[in-house]
Amino acid sequence: MNSSLEDKKNQLLAKLRKQGISDEAVLEALAEIPREDFIADYLRAQAYENAALPIESEQTISQPFIVAYMTQELRVDKSHKVLEVGTGSGYQAAVLAKLCKRLFTIERHMPLHKTAEEMFKKLRLFNVTTLFGNGMRGWKEQEPFDRIMVTAAGEDIPDELLYQLKDGGILIIPVGGQEETQHIIRVTRHGDDFDVKTLLPVKFVPLLSGIVHSS
Ligand code: SAH
Repeated sequence: MNSSLEDKKNQLLAKLRKQGISDEAVLEALAEIPREDFIADYLRAQAYENAALPIESEQTISQPFIVAYMTQELRVDKSHKVLEVGTGSGYQAAVLAKLCKRLFTIERHMPLHKTAEEMFKKLRLFNVTTLFGNGMRGWKEQEPFDRIMVTAAGEDIPDELLYQLKDGGILIIPVGGQEETQHIIRVTRHGDDFDVKTLLPVKFVPLLSGIVHSS
């Protein structure tokens, strides 16, 4: 990494601390994963601005603060099996992979799925397993999960994801339509009860069913 990107990364991490990201393991994962590798070359200089950026298939890589915040709120540890719905660029998955035991990630756009898979290999993140499909249904062959993170906004919380959580497990998902204010919701499973907490207002691309084979 050239020194100006390194400087910008350090400035961004300092800003995230000021904004309330205090989990050292999360900050370390953000320091280790090269965000510039998950975006197009023409955007490289903006890799460490605290902004969402466009990726292929008209999707976005989330703002670093939101990645850090959602990761912190998920309370991941090294023993956890984690599912991410919405691989996108693969950046959030790479951050999670540093913090958990095994990370499963599902994407509905083939070009994004393929590019992200290559990145996980390049970064030697061998605990990541990818799937091309509709993540709203979760991953039946791999459930139950200690943690689930959805990185696209649902109109509501898909039941199938709730029931793929282990007892005591946590799901984080942005909820709300494209025209309304969305919020990050954190759900904690206690048996067949689900404790729901509303966190920050956000803006995410939609969680959609069906799969898309080309860009
Ligand atoms: N976590 C990503 C964010 C990408 S934006 C990153 O770090 O870059 C959200 C992604 O969710 C998009 O790529 C979109 O195609 C995907 N998505 C939306 N609905 C989905 C679904 N039902 N199953 C799987 N992926 C979905």
